[in-house]
Amino acid sequence: MRKKLIAANWKMNPPPMGWEESDSPYQPRTEVEVAVFPAALDLSACIEAGLAVGPQFARPEETGAFTGDISLAMAKKLGCTYALSGHSDRRQFHGETDAFVAEQAKAALELGLIPVICIGETKAERDAGTAKQAIERQLKPLPMDARIILAYEPIWAISRGDPTVKPATTADAEEMHAFIRSLLPKNLQDKIRILYGGSLNAKNAKELLAQPNIDGGLIGGASLTPSEFQRIIEASLEAA
Ligand code: PEP
Repeated sequence: MRKKLIAANWKMNPPPMGWEESDSPYQPRTEVEVAVFPAALDLSACIEAGLAVGPQFARPEETGAFTGDISLAMAKKLGCTYALSGHSDRRQFHGETDAFVAEQAKAALELGLIPVICIGETKAERDAGTAKQAIERQLKPLPMDARIILAYEPIWAISRGDPTVKPATTADAEEMHAFIRSLLPKNLQDKIRILYGGSLNAKNAKELLAQPNIDGGLIGGASLTPSEFQRIIEASLEAA
């Protein structure tokens, strides 16, 4: 039985109101795993408040001449649990390649961090009927280990703050998740968790999270409103 994980990606936003309260929905829980990816400057405060967090980006090298970056080793030393890798914002705006994302995931595993690795096709790839090839290409260099967590995020479904963007249909999302699972090594197919990300919100969460191959969500926009994030967590419990 794979435990559901509900992960908040706050991107370049300040932590939402009340995030530091002991009863905030961002706090870890037992029935469902809750993870938060705050901006790097907020990691420390989140750890102090008891949240289970990870950086949205960190380099695999331990130290070095990489102005403006932080390393996975620094994140681990600070007390992080997770490390987000390969988010489409990073691939698009920072030129992160499949190979670099794989290096990050390997380094995270070596350090004892849980890599949450984003994969997903562009709109052009979906329209051209090559979505599955894009996924295969992104998956191929990744370290296959029961501890990795994949996040299937079709790029065309990511809201980027626009509430009119639609998520993948439940059937499409489940089909892609089942496809991704079929590509995993046989002995890991029932172990590796695959989250869905892309306009997941309190309204559509229950249906998406009830799918057999969807093991949780990576949530951007809707994670910034505590009451909505709380409802997504509740939906994940009902769906379990
Ligand atoms: C994301 O950027 O990872 C994401 C899933 O965003 P949203 O939930 O806003 O679509």
